Amino acid sequence: MSHPNPPDPDCIFCKIVAGQIPCRKVYEDDELLAFHDINPWAPVHFLLIPKEHLESLAVTHARHELLLGRMMLLAPRLALEQGCTPGRDGGFRVLVNNGREGGQEVLHLHMHVMGGPRPWKRG
Ligand code: 5GP
Ligand code: ZN
Repeated sequence: MSHPNPPDPDCIFCKIVAGQIPCRKVYEDDELLAFHDINPWAPVHFLLIPKEHLESLAVTHARHELLLGRMMLLAPRLALEQGCTPGRDGGFRVLVNNGREGGQEVLHLHMHVMGGPRPWKRG
């Protein structure tokens, strides 16, 4: 990545990336981190984030094309690994909230991946 954003010292997910706040890790590579949501809505609920501090999809650029594509490809793989039911009768939900009116509370881009048998707490 040519000009990555620096970590934001006030960002809770940057602190998780830096290991300053613990998480239950699901997946990690050079660019991406996935960890269980602290307040899950569903039997499976984890967050997939870029390690780079990006506020939301609203501030992504062409240079993030590969990163965003990797997130979309990784989500279904990790969903199955984490116990989501395969096939059309199973499935999983992918959700990205953007901005306050979009329901975003943590201003570091994250993809919610949720699944498992119904009912869920929310959603
Ligand atoms: P948003 O509303 O921004 O899309 O979702 C933020 C999500 O981050 C929420 O589902 C919330 O439970 C989760 N979350 C907030 N703080 C932490 C934390 O410190 N650790 C973990 N694992 N999840 C968090
Ligand atoms: Zn951040």
